[in-house]
Amino acid sequence: MNRLTIKHLNKTYPNGVKAINNISLEISNGMFGLLGPNGAGKSSLMKTIIGLQSPDSGEILFNGVDIVSDTLFIKKQLGFLPQDFGVYPKISAFDLLSHLAVLKGLLNHKERKEQVLALLDKTNLYQHRNKEVHTFSGGMRQRFGIAQALLGNPQVIIVDEPTAGLDPEERNRFNNLLSEIGEDVIIILSTHLVEDVRNLCTNMAIIDKGTVLAQGKPTDFIASLGGSLWQKAIDKKDREAYEQKYSIISSQLNAGKLSIHIFAPEDPRNGFEQAKPMLEDVYFSIINGRVSGGL
Ligand code: ADP
Repeated sequence: MNRLTIKHLNKTYPNGVKAINNISLEISNGMFGLLGPNGAGKSSLMKTIIGLQSPDSGEILFNGVDIVSDTLFIKKQLGFLPQDFGVYPKISAFDLLSHLAVLKGLLNHKERKEQVLALLDKTNLYQHRNKEVHTFSGGMRQRFGIAQALLGNPQVIIVDEPTAGLDPEERNRFNNLLSEIGEDVIIILSTHLVEDVRNLCTNMAIIDKGTVLAQGKPTDFIASLGGSLWQKAIDKKDREAYEQKYSIISSQLNAGKLSIHIFAPEDPRNGFEQAKPMLEDVYFSIINGRVSGGL
């Protein structure tokens, strides 16, 4: 079992933004969702784990080894899928992946070729192996991103906002691929999309303004809201009145009416019906401070 332990991590940028504020997390094998709005500090945390930047204080341990000082140790065990690769050189997918494999330290020609072809197959790109990556669709590029992240059998795979810009079908395909990678490595999925975390992750943390607001299993979070979530369809014009009276967690337009979800430990009556909580409700209630993070 792999274990990534983050203890009291802090990072303030030179402009004074405190992007990581005393973050502690314990992550083991399986898929871990790091969920938070834009600007929450997700990328800053990822970059610090990968060793692209060092923290001001705090510890990061991978299987007991201090990876803040020993960045090479984690680089060897790490696969990273960034949001955007920028520009691709004009070479085929096979050649590019082989080149990246060399950089990853796969020096044996035969083993490298085998692994590159196996990964192109796994990511459904085998038939496109001789095409240049810059001609790929967004979904194919993301799958190529997974292939390069898996080079060298990493024990920690970090994926930063992977489904941004993908259409629903590509996104589904990509998520299926991620969930196939397996339970015997750590995969950290950094995203602002609750749905991706709900579909894929067995453990998660919600972060905002550089701080962990809650961490645990999505199923436990959802269960903890059970019985305290109520819904009602109201007229749009009544929204403000309801806002003053109730703890509104979320609201959604539905056939011209506003369907609101509120948090209330006791039956609020007044036409409210009990609602089945979703991870979205948990997320919004924690982010908006309606419910304490200690759910
Ligand atoms: P997220 O990935 O959750 O969107 P980021 O980690 O990118 O969040 O950003 C967290 C905060 O740090 C934001 O306020 C952002 O503007 C700021 N920030 C990120 N990178 C830098 C940087 N290199 N220099 C200064 N501020 C930064």
